[in-house]
Formats: sequence, C-alpha cells, structure tokens
Amino acid sequence: MKLTVALLFALALHAADPVRVRLVTGGHNHDPEFYLPFINEPRMAVSVEPHPKAYQGNPKNIDVLVLYDMTKVSDPKTREWLKAYVESGKGLVVLHHAICSFEDWEWWGDEVVGARYLNTPSRGLPPSTFFHDLELDMQVVKKHPVTSGTDNFHIHDETYKGMWFAKNLDLLVTTKHEKGDGPIAWLGPSKTNRVVVLQGGHDKQAHLNPNWQRLVKNAILWSAQRDTAAR
Ligand SMILES: [Zn+2]
Repeated sequence: MKLTVALLFALALHAADPVRVRLVTGGHNHDPEFYLPFINEPRMAVSVEPHPKAYQGNPKNIDVLVLYDMTKVSDPKTREWLKAYVESGKGLVVLHHAICSFEDWEWWGDEVVGARYLNTPSRGLPPSTFFHDLELDMQVVKKHPVTSGTDNFHIHDETYKGMWFAKNLDLLVTTKHEKGDGPIAWLGPSKTNRVVVLQGGHDKQAHLNPNWQRLVKNAILWSAQRDTAAR
C-alpha cells in the first residue's frame, strides 16, 4: 500500500512537472498523424519549432530535443548550439528522416547518433537507399525502459538500407527484412546525455501504429530520465 501511495505521488508530481519537449520539424513533409503521440499526453509539454530557428535560445528551457526534421544546415552556430545541448546532459530523440541530417558532421554521426544515412559514397560504402510501403516484422531484442510495454510487432513503414553504423550499437529493436539494415531502434553512443534513435516513422501508417507511438513516448521519457511505465 505504501508503495502504491508513493507511486501515485510520483505520478502526480510528474503530471505537474511535464517533460519540456522541443519538437523540431522542417525540410521534409509529414502526415499530421505524426503528432498523435503528443496529443492528450500530460507527461509532456510540447512546442513545435521548425529548423533552423529550433537550434537557438537557452537550452535550459528544454528537457528533450526531438528531431523530425531533415537538414543540411551546417553553419558553425547551429553546430555549436547542438554540441552544447548534447554536452549539457539533456535528452535527445532522433526520429526517422532526421537520421539523414548533418551527414558531413563526423562528431554527430559517430558520437551522438551512432549511424549515418549516406547521401553520397563515404567510408568505402556506396550511397544509402530507402524502400517505402513495406510490411515489417520487428523484434524487440532488449528489455529496456524504451521498449517497456512493447513485444515483437508488425508495422507498415519505410526502411533505410546501406547506412553506416557505429560498432557495438546498443540495439533495442531490429528487423530481419531483406530491405532493411537490421537496426530499427537503438541508444546513441553519446557519453554526456541520453540519446535514442528510431529509424521508423515515415507516414501515417506507421504513426497510427500503437507500438511506434509507445516507442516514441518511451524514448522521450527515458531520455529525460523519467519513468516510462505505461499508464
Ligand atoms: Zn520517410
């Protein structure tokens, strides 16, 4: 009973203290269903900002930066801001086509995201490619707060193929589909903050999938060092 009271108290505290999410868009069209995980979600206070405006201002006002933009913006100011953000210890979630951003920024790919979508040949690899409208079976390969409440699942989504990945990625979800690389959700290698990367999430067929929505929410809460237990 004591535990239950303590838990209720903790939940009430969190509801009163939502995770401040800055959701970054721009550079790629997307379906409105993308916003479903953030609607009627009292654990989060979300502001949607297009890039490059999103990469400005005081990072103290953000708990988790969620990237769903696609940008080649590589001016030193943007990089400086993002580097300071990552080193501040705040959460970072990189969704779908945001993996394709900052391709030529080695630190970002190697030490933060742990992967790169190659628009041009690089590191001895040919350009990456993508496949739309696939029926994918996903395997949850690690018990983790991000995969909490999610078993193996099926989703209609897009895959990327031929990406570069860091060695020893901390994998959470994978697919064996021949048109995918394997990794679908993983923890970024950053040593200064919590980074979660989800490769899925192309259009409304993925956005409407409750498993995708749960992974997005859990990724945000975990990167903010909050409890991901389903409610
Ligand atoms: Zn896509």
